[in-house]
Amino acid sequence: MAKSVVAYQKCISPACGAEFECRESMFKCPRCGDLLDIQYHWDQAKVPDKLSTFGERWARRDKPLDFSGVWRFRELLNFCPDKHKVTIGEGQTILQQNRAIAAHLGMKPESLFLQYEGLNPSGSFKDNGMAAAFSHALMVGAQSCACASTGNTSASVALYAHACGLKCTVFIGSGRIAFGKLSQAMDYGAQTIQIQGDFDDCMRQVQDVCEELGLYLLNSLNPFRLEGQKTIMYRIIEALGWEVPDWIVVPGGNLGNSSAFGKAFLELKQLGLIDRVPRMAIINATGADTLTDLVNNKKLVWNGGHVDQKIIDDYYAGLTARHFSPHTCASAIEISRPVNLKKCLRAIDVCNGVVLAVTDEEILNAKALIGKHGLGCEPASAATIAGLVHLLADGTVAKDARVACVLTGHTLKDANATVNYHKDRQGPFSNPPVEAPNDLQEIIKLIR
Ligand SMILES: *Cc1c(COP(=O)(O)O)cnc(C)c1O
Ligand SMILES: [Zn+2]
Repeated sequence: MAKSVVAYQKCISPACGAEFECRESMFKCPRCGDLLDIQYHWDQAKVPDKLSTFGERWARRDKPLDFSGVWRFRELLNFCPDKHKVTIGEGQTILQQNRAIAAHLGMKPESLFLQYEGLNPSGSFKDNGMAAAFSHALMVGAQSCACASTGNTSASVALYAHACGLKCTVFIGSGRIAFGKLSQAMDYGAQTIQIQGDFDDCMRQVQDVCEELGLYLLNSLNPFRLEGQKTIMYRIIEALGWEVPDWIVVPGGNLGNSSAFGKAFLELKQLGLIDRVPRMAIINATGADTLTDLVNNKKLVWNGGHVDQKIIDDYYAGLTARHFSPHTCASAIEISRPVNLKKCLRAIDVCNGVVLAVTDEEILNAKALIGKHGLGCEPASAATIAGLVHLLADGTVAKDARVACVLTGHTLKDANATVNYHKDRQGPFSNPPVEAPNDLQEIIKLIR
């Protein structure tokens, strides 16, 4: 690739390694069909020599690109000119030190942190990725776009499409979406197509539709989205005074986040901006545990990019043969054919990562614990704390390790899950409403 461009797209398969300009729009390698990555000529990217320089941009937050929690770090995702950069104020999220939950888990009180991505404009971390991907969409002159979604992608795409003046169609599986998320797609004016099937069916259809009609695809197959999601890690490091935590814990669905986080740390290390890479734990739900099964049982590894495709093909053939459809209350991670699987293997390699699956019961109890002592979150996000319980119990994570759990979505995204947990007394933290007659003395008796 010509040295005059800072960024280019590159196929992740070492056997192929094809390179393309960022001005081109495609979502898989046209030569071999593998995933594409964004790569940089770092010597031309004008990256500051220390991370704290990015923090100085806070003082200029009247400028939209400095205010954005994504574009504040723009030299680390330097693929598009400023005139195309899109922001609606994403990334104003916080890292909350949570002593109460740490104590409940038996950890050293100062060591647990919750990165609350629910504070994004559409209420999930997806906005970090969309700020980057929509900038690329404008750069290539896209006029209409589409995505498949378990909910939050559609909400985020609908919001950004409106901000950019793009037409937008979102595909969701029928009955598989939390109400709060569906309400957003409709409210923000997206055309919503409910397909009779699950997320994996939607994902296959949307790729063909985009190809056929030339729509810009916004699933995390889109490598530009992952560039935006890297900034979640920059902000965690920033909130820790530019120190790296010991562990990052993240839910695993389509594996875009885990892939992006691994890439972020790899690049920061290569640039000499951090001196060590944290470990990463990726948490599946037991009803959608493809990654866990492939990594822990089938021993699938990155192997320098030479991933054993036969293991994956055989596994997926097995899913098809038994008509497997994933099931979990954590709808955002109800995915059995994660599109970023290979990139996630790379992230596991970079971060010395571990993978495990937690039950819906564990997820809902962890969610209630977070609600009671923290900022609240949707079920998928709570898989992090549920997973951490296991990792502390078996000694993988030390009780005094600094751990940052990524709470991926806002608690109001799936209010039904919360109401049902409490109302139906589903677990130890259930806190149902108390019925009272319309009588002062009776009411007073009930106050505890
Ligand atoms: C999309 C989503 C996930 C899954 O993230 P991946 O990057 O696809 O693994 C987890 N939690 C929430 C709330 C989401 O919206
Ligand atoms: Zn290729």
